[in-house]
Amino acid sequence: MLEVKIAWGLSADGVMRHISEVKNGKACGCVCPSPNCSSPLIANQGAIKTHYFSHQTNTSCSGESALHLAAKQLLENLASEKAVLLLPKVHAEYSKVDMLGEIVEGSSVEHIRFELKDAKQEVRLSDSLIADVLSKSSTNEELAIEIFVTNSKDELGEGKYRYIQVNAIEIDLSGLSWNINRDDLKDAVLKTAPRRWLYCNKIAELYIKLKQDIDNEVDRINQSYLANLYDIAQLFSSNTNLPSLTWPSLVARRLQINSSDFIESRSPKVKCFNKVWVPFDYGFSGTAIVGDKKIVNVDVVLFVKGNNKKTIPKGKPTLFIGYDERKTADYNKFDLRWENVELWQQKLERIADNKMVQMQNVAFEKDQMIATFVQRFRAANDNVKMQMICQKLGLSPPKQESKHNYYWNTSWDVWKSTVWFYKIHNNEGYTISSWGIADDSWLESLFGFPIDNKASEARRKMAGSWLKKLYHLGILRRISWSEYEVENSKLENFVPWQYIRKL
Ligand SMILES: [Zn+2]
Repeated sequence: MLEVKIAWGLSADGVMRHISEVKNGKACGCVCPSPNCSSPLIANQGAIKTHYFSHQTNTSCSGESALHLAAKQLLENLASEKAVLLLPKVHAEYSKVDMLGEIVEGSSVEHIRFELKDAKQEVRLSDSLIADVLSKSSTNEELAIEIFVTNSKDELGEGKYRYIQVNAIEIDLSGLSWNINRDDLKDAVLKTAPRRWLYCNKIAELYIKLKQDIDNEVDRINQSYLANLYDIAQLFSSNTNLPSLTWPSLVARRLQINSSDFIESRSPKVKCFNKVWVPFDYGFSGTAIVGDKKIVNVDVVLFVKGNNKKTIPKGKPTLFIGYDERKTADYNKFDLRWENVELWQQKLERIADNKMVQMQNVAFEKDQMIATFVQRFRAANDNVKMQMICQKLGLSPPKQESKHNYYWNTSWDVWKSTVWFYKIHNNEGYTISSWGIADDSWLESLFGFPIDNKASEARRKMAGSWLKKLYHLGILRRISWSEYEVENSKLENFVPWQYIRKL
């Protein structure tokens, strides 16, 4: 036989009895309290096992509503004792964001003393709602009490109480031991078991009050922001001792042929703020003058930074100044931006375009000049080449012509003075190497020397021994076996051919 243990039975007088409150065996005189059962119970009060009721006959009844019924009946009895029922605290929270984006929050708690005066079981409150217990306090406040043993009230249940606006709590007895006795059950019901509000009109009242307080507080804070902002507006209008503002820049960017960025920028500044400021929701709007030669009237919107509202600017260029009084330094206290400055931007784009064309022309002319020079230099004979380089160096050409060298496609004097002019002269810190000179594309364009390996190797050797001599003279500094750095190309009493030609 499956033994279902119950600790509470319903006695003949209709009172729920704990197993400890009855006689042993059939003499207990109790029936199962479960509706649809009501079978006679036997009290099992042996010496060893925990005492319990069992059904006299084999049944599938679990007697599971025993504790539920016991608790309800207990509440009814407690009302006659004027017992105090602990209610969940009444709690409300509310928060609001001020103009600067700071959260202002608050909470409010109230404890209600509820002395049971009257309690009835199974009271119908609406078509779809029967309260486990409906009680009244000594101050005649009504409270529905739901006992949770196996089924907690869901949102629907809460909604039913909200709909009829009857205060209700749920006492959670689901964690209690099956054989809890009368005194412990009394403690649990009155104060120790968890409890919560299913509906509480005081929470709404508390919330409304709290909301009002916080809303007022935020208003007060916002008004103080605006008052401070007005002082700032007046400071601007004085046009003296202005804070150091970071003026936003308009930028026009162009990519050059050498793929570096070319940037044309302007940072228009207000020259003079006008006196009149008109208040709006979260700031003040005024006007100002920009420009030196040509005066431009602009609108100014001075606002509390951090607010999430957006102002739609009118057609005029408008300076937006966000002000955050919490910051200490001007650079993060004031946040400036221009709006409606498309015309200014277009003008800047045109200026950038024009500058770009000019730069390209200059670059093109330079290329042309170089190309012309290369053409002339290459076509000239050694004598003329020597004259051209000497002219660049500001020297008179050597008196005697030097020998034409096949590997350089020019004379000794010419290649040496050309290398001197382009690679060493005024080139302190420049790294020079024999192989670099032997294969240098610029020199190749000037001389048109043969570029095969044999010719290149011959040039490398010639250049190598010449650079070594310049090193010994203190003109170059050695870095590695074939590399040098130009150390001193501006010798006093410079006698060029001593170093260039005869070496
Ligand atoms: Zn039963």
